[in-house]
Amino acid sequence: MTRLNDILEKVQAYNPGADLNMIRKAYVYSALAHKGQVRLSGEPYLVHPIEVANIIADLKMDVASVTAGILHDTLEDTLTSMEELSTRFGEEVTNLVEGLTKISKISFKTSEERQAENFRKMILAMVKDIRVLIIKLADRLHNMRTLEFQRPEKQQAIARETLDIYAPLANRLGISWIKQELEDLSLRYLKPVIYAELEEKIARKKEESQEYIAKVIKIIERNLHHHKIDGTVTGRLKHLYSIYQKMVHQDITFEQVYDILAFRIIVNSIKDCYAVLGIIHSLWLPVPGRFKDYIAIPKTNLYQSLHTTVIGPDAEHFELQIRTEEMHHIAEMGIAAHWQYKEGYQLDEDERSQLDWLRQVLEWQGDVSNAGEFLESVKIDLFADSVYVFTPQGAVKELPKGATPVDFAYSIHTNIGDHCTGAKVSGKLVPLKYELKTGEIVEIITSNKQHPNKDWLHFVKTSKARNKIRHWIKKEEERRSIELGKELCEREFFRHKQSFNKDFKQGKFNEAAAQFSLNNADNLVAAIGRGKISALQVLYKLYPELRKSGKQDKKNKDDSRQKKKRQNNEGITIKDIDDVMVRFAKCCNPLPGDPVIGFITRGRGVTIHRKDCKHVLKSDPERQIEVDWNLTQQAIHQIKIRILCEDRRGMLAELSTVISSEDANISDVKVSTNIDRNAVCIFEIGVTNLKHLQQVINRLEQVKGVIEVQRLN
Ligand code: MN
Repeated sequence: MTRLNDILEKVQAYNPGADLNMIRKAYVYSALAHKGQVRLSGEPYLVHPIEVANIIADLKMDVASVTAGILHDTLEDTLTSMEELSTRFGEEVTNLVEGLTKISKISFKTSEERQAENFRKMILAMVKDIRVLIIKLADRLHNMRTLEFQRPEKQQAIARETLDIYAPLANRLGISWIKQELEDLSLRYLKPVIYAELEEKIARKKEESQEYIAKVIKIIERNLHHHKIDGTVTGRLKHLYSIYQKMVHQDITFEQVYDILAFRIIVNSIKDCYAVLGIIHSLWLPVPGRFKDYIAIPKTNLYQSLHTTVIGPDAEHFELQIRTEEMHHIAEMGIAAHWQYKEGYQLDEDERSQLDWLRQVLEWQGDVSNAGEFLESVKIDLFADSVYVFTPQGAVKELPKGATPVDFAYSIHTNIGDHCTGAKVSGKLVPLKYELKTGEIVEIITSNKQHPNKDWLHFVKTSKARNKIRHWIKKEEERRSIELGKELCEREFFRHKQSFNKDFKQGKFNEAAAQFSLNNADNLVAAIGRGKISALQVLYKLYPELRKSGKQDKKNKDDSRQKKKRQNNEGITIKDIDDVMVRFAKCCNPLPGDPVIGFITRGRGVTIHRKDCKHVLKSDPERQIEVDWNLTQQAIHQIKIRILCEDRRGMLAELSTVISSEDANISDVKVSTNIDRNAVCIFEIGVTNLKHLQQVINRLEQVKGVIEVQRLN
């Protein structure tokens, strides 16, 4: 059993200037606060905080940490208040104890690996000072060492939590000895039979290997001496849990695990590390693929060493780790190494930049641009960049600070994100742009009618949500462009007496697409819909002969229009279009004199309906076309207008409809977007006179979302 004096001596040894009175005071206070409490082992409760403080002293932590270790359970398990702690021990110690109390209040229910990761992060988010986590690990280590006194169910739960949450955290902080001990102890309770078996086999193997280990050490030492390199060589068996893991991962028996032995050579310099590596490889054949240079490329927890596995004497495989004394210290102590000897001591620049690696150790850490800032964030708020919220099922989701219910919805499933209409946070309805806070329970409300909205991009914080929203908008825009492109082609082809649908079905658009350096017909039609390519251009590509007659047409347009009375198709005139196949609809059977309208069919010309025909009223307005009973045509003038408008869905279709409804036919349209994200549409339209044009412009200006309409020269 550890006594107070053991701790005081330990601290005094590594930190001669330490304020030991603080630790003594904490001891007296803790003894009083926990008075009468006993542990399940039957010992006085005080034994636990003393042992925890002892582990903290083993890690050579500062006085505040050791003191907090002694007091760590007072806030939670006794009548002690924060104010009292603060008056007696100051802010620093109080904050550490408070941090520990906060962590102990989270309950871990799930053993799912991904969730475990989130719980680990949640702990880190709650920890404002990294020392809290180190003390917590010491606390857990002592609880694991005394787990035998707990009830079996409790043993299972605590061991599981230790293996899933705390051992990985110890690893993340680079404190390898705590990690290994936690792992071994967890396995002892989680798989007692396997553990006992392994323990026995390892003990026997250790016995058998003693001579062998001594022999190898001797060979290495002799060779180091020969090359005038100072070094310490040790040999050992790997720790139980790591052997167990090899057996599970490789599905092999204990006997088949070939590299159970490990040797460690500690030398004075990095140069010596590589020299020793050369010596080892000249002595024994290295196993290919097993050499790792963690000196050149340290692990994220700053672990450094050279690793190699060789085929040693008697064809036995073993691993060698070669490192300097300093590397060894960090390998054992990890992040704790950087909190040692810090009493009243200012870090100089070099040491500050050394702390840069801490950023890598804690790879979840967000944006910190320099070591000084990082040090600050370690002290103040380590993981303030994240919020942790719960699903209604109790799973934890990590999101960046400022994340909204939309981010949360997408983090669950794309489908939920795409259809989320609202959210309830801890039972109350909140807007989609609400900022989530750690600890909130979030429930997403979805509707099949809901779709992602461009506005969402203004408030989402996760790249996942952003990408999915953009993806949806892009896909939607693509779909819309294809739809529009098809309409524009249909009209243009129709005007030139070609069937777009037939050509499209026959794959002609695929061929044409290649000529515009596009992948396929859909891409081409979409490009037309966006106004990047005109339907006329495509038509001319497919029917080069039309280009000539097209020019001819234009030249002769006026006279030909005047000369040629459009007296075709059983007395029906269709604006600006000649020789069109016309049929009269059977549903409404229009008679001369009835107001009529044409409906552009796919490949079967125009069907003439009465304007009040219910079929027409229900039909796609984009495919309706003005027809009239054989009127004398006036000359048509082609003119270009530029429309600046909002870039919204259906805008182009609406503008087209307005222009058509004003008896002005569209012969070309180009659409682009300007810097302000507005759409710029250039229409080429046919009008009879200025008054007609003015009328068209007036109407267009009334369309919702139109900013400006201009006549172009
Ligand atoms: Mn405790």
